[in-house]
Amino acid sequence: MLNIDSISKGIVIDHINAGYGYSIFKYLGLDKADFAVALIMNVPSKKFGKKDLIKIENVIDVDLTMLGFIDPNITINIIEDEKIVKKINLSLPERVEGIIECKNPRCITSEERNIVHKFILIDKENGIYKCEYCDQIYAWEC
Ligand SMILES: [Zn+2]
Repeated sequence: MLNIDSISKGIVIDHINAGYGYSIFKYLGLDKADFAVALIMNVPSKKFGKKDLIKIENVIDVDLTMLGFIDPNITINIIEDEKIVKKINLSLPERVEGIIECKNPRCITSEERNIVHKFILIDKENGIYKCEYCDQIYAWEC
């Protein structure tokens, strides 16, 4: 098992909901990475019981909006010189574009194929989003 200490420069994605690590790993294309990566599953966690963890020995671009939408409990640690230099706590994004689709058949996004589906977070506590065009509600579920 890789320790955080063993990463000199890279990213540790921590507090992933147990069971979601693999999909995030694949979403980030890490299954095809040519640098050192580790997916560690079912790590005991005080906060969540169990968690998944991803360690990346490289600086890659991570779409924080998308990741926050997949799992808002994630913490991202940026590692430099074997130390955590930055901690980013994700949360549900205020706006999501092109991630979820509006289910309202009368919505302009259903009628016109070229329009990007846009949703705005209207209730952070309950994860309620609203279509920007027709006000259709989308309830976020992990
Ligand atoms: Zn809509």
